[in-house]
Amino acid sequence: MKHNFGAGPCILPQEVFKQASQAVLNFNDTGLSILEISHRSKEFIAVSEDAIKIVKELMNVPEGYSVLFLQGGASLQFAMVAMNLLQEGKKAAYLETGVWAKKAIKEAKLFGEVEIVASSKDANFNFIPKGYSIPEDAAYFHITSNNTIYGTELFDIPKTNVPVICDMSSDIFSRDINVADFDLIYAGAQKNIGPAGATLVIVKDEILGKVNRTIPSMLDYKVHIEGESMYNTPPVFSIYVSLLNLKWLKSKGGIAAIEKENIAKADALYQEIDRNPFFKGTAAVEDRSRMNVCFVMENPELEKDFLKLAEEKGCIGIKGHRSVGGFRASIYNALPITSVHVLIEAMQEFAEKHK
Ligand code: PMP
Repeated sequence: MKHNFGAGPCILPQEVFKQASQAVLNFNDTGLSILEISHRSKEFIAVSEDAIKIVKELMNVPEGYSVLFLQGGASLQFAMVAMNLLQEGKKAAYLETGVWAKKAIKEAKLFGEVEIVASSKDANFNFIPKGYSIPEDAAYFHITSNNTIYGTELFDIPKTNVPVICDMSSDIFSRDINVADFDLIYAGAQKNIGPAGATLVIVKDEILGKVNRTIPSMLDYKVHIEGESMYNTPPVFSIYVSLLNLKWLKSKGGIAAIEKENIAKADALYQEIDRNPFFKGTAAVEDRSRMNVCFVMENPELEKDFLKLAEEKGCIGIKGHRSVGGFRASIYNALPITSVHVLIEAMQEFAEKHK
């Protein structure tokens, strides 16, 4: 049995894989595959509407927000956010908490001035900066709620009058958040939403339409809102599997229930990292991510051996990102706590063997 700790695309529930494969052969008893039906068919329009509805329901999205399934990944959102929201002559404020934030900043600079209000770059992004101020006249303030590579998570959403934009790619649907604290949330689907190919955007309608620049249709949120995520052919399979996965989440008790499980999984793993003298965590304790648990070995020469043992036990995808080294165990929603226990046992067995 494999225990998939991959950072994304990542594990999804087995039952979702089964339902998805059934739909490839015969979608809802239509005698057709989900892959061959028209995106404008009543069957697929129902899928798209249900997917948007379940996002609104699970996240308690208030009135005045639109939910979109787009393409281009979170990386296209880096540019779309600035293109749609950075008014001419204004500046955008960014919190620099990792490579993804840096990439977002790079794209924003194409459209205007950017102010980095705080950065943890000098510490290889191992913590979330705090105590900074956000310029009152900024067009918006951009944060990354979970830094997938470094295993840090932003738990205190800054309070500000400036619109807050959040890259929630790697912790969306993992914990309760108040959508009203944000003006735009975006996330690539390939972690807690579904398979790669779709990008979820939740945007407060009133922040749009304030820039004068020409925006190509495909990059204009308003065009996609008017087209109800059907301006062009949407990523039908990714949206369908996302719907299945979000239904699974709902059946488990929604975000409140999964958040409890996620806390239990993260607590168990961090406890072992702190207890076991062979391992140490890399992120500041108060900013430790519940989705991506990053750790190294006290003796880096042993890392190859531990990786081998973990792989023998079926734990895959735990090699750390090259910019941090060591290990990263991604413990997204669909990863059961039993898999976390297998990894913990491997850590204990390794310590026992090498003491
Ligand atoms: N932001 C974060 C926090 C991510 O983890 C990732 C991808 N892992 C991205 C952005 C980029 O997403 P995509 O590959 O969908 O463009």
